[in-house]
Amino acid sequence: MPLDITSDRQLARRLTFGYTAGLFIIALLSISVHFLLDSVIAQQRDFGTVVNVAGRQRMLSQRVALLAGAQQIAGSGDKAALESAIDLMERSQDALLRGGDMNINHTLSDRARAYYLDGPEALDPQVRRYIAAARTLLAADTNADDASAARDLIQRTARAELLSALDGAVTIFEQEANARVEGLRNAQRTVLLILLFAVVLEALFIFRPMVRLVSRYTRNLYEMATRDGLTGLSNRRHFMENADRQFKIAKRDEAPLAAMILDLDHFKQINDVHGHHAGDDILRFFSRQVRVVLRSGDICGRTGGEEFAVVVPNVTDTMAQDIAERICAVTASAEVEGQPPVTVSIGVAMLDEMDRSLEDLLRRADAALYRAKQAGRNRAAV
Ligand code: GH3
Ligand code: MG
Ligand code: MG
Repeated sequence: MPLDITSDRQLARRLTFGYTAGLFIIALLSISVHFLLDSVIAQQRDFGTVVNVAGRQRMLSQRVALLAGAQQIAGSGDKAALESAIDLMERSQDALLRGGDMNINHTLSDRARAYYLDGPEALDPQVRRYIAAARTLLAADTNADDASAARDLIQRTARAELLSALDGAVTIFEQEANARVEGLRNAQRTVLLILLFAVVLEALFIFRPMVRLVSRYTRNLYEMATRDGLTGLSNRRHFMENADRQFKIAKRDEAPLAAMILDLDHFKQINDVHGHHAGDDILRFFSRQVRVVLRSGDICGRTGGEEFAVVVPNVTDTMAQDIAERICAVTASAEVEGQPPVTVSIGVAMLDEMDRSLEDLLRRADAALYRAKQAGRNRAAV
């Protein structure tokens, strides 16, 4: 496919823009996935603390009941233990309701707030009454009636209403934690899916055309760098590279190798008489003829204006001469409508041990070409 620099530039600019925008979106999505994950972890930790503290309230209520009972029996009991259990229960209750203590930072949901505060049967008044009763029991100057009423309340509610109410609070916190974390997980999954989708889109609609464009340009540039634009044969540099490789192989294997220099006869005259266009047509025509005679492993290139070179591996000198004579014959016998007749002279040289480089071999082929020209042109000289 030929290169259209202007439209390709526009395409490249569009692709670059799309690529940058795509990368930006992917970066944004990746960052959101990161923050969502972070938030899932933080929420799980926070809710874990809340559920723990709410659960510990159950344990504390039972401990208070136990210590209060012991006080009743022994008369003295472990006052300090009872006092610290009551304090901890009260502090935990405040933290659960208002946050800002014991690593609890949440604000209560409407449901939990209603459960704690709405109506006389709500959890918070129950806990406060329970704590107040326990404190009454602790106070040294409490009269006997108050103490027995307090003890009564504690023993009555500890294993019944209060315990189940505290249980209810734990259940609410657990359900809220699960729902919230599940919601965040879903959001994270959705963002991850969008991210993958964006990557696939980018690969299909940005990367693929980009790679195609680059490889088309690479191919075209390679062609331009190695081919002769007029005839499509290898240019001088590419011919020399290929021929040099073949020269080294033949040297290493001590295999025969023929080199030929081909030069069209009186070409300047053709140009002068028939014009440069006709000259170009002949150059194209001649290169097609040469390719027909050569085999696929042979190396051929246009090395100068109307000068060509060929390297043929694994042939004897008679075979090489035969090839050169066939090229002379087809060129001379071709009759192309509207095209002046043309002939070619060819110098052939066979690789021998004196040749230290490809240039040595080609120099001898050039010398043979000179002899062919001297001998009257339209012929091959070995
Ligand atoms: P000889 O038989 O001794 O080789 O004679 P000649 O005229 O072919 O040799 P000379 O080297 O004097 O002329 C080569 C001519 O080839 C000169 C130039 O105008 C022509 N030529 C070189 N490159 C091109 C090309 O790309 N197109 C055309 N049309 N002519 C070219
Ligand atoms: Mg010539
Ligand atoms: Mg010449």
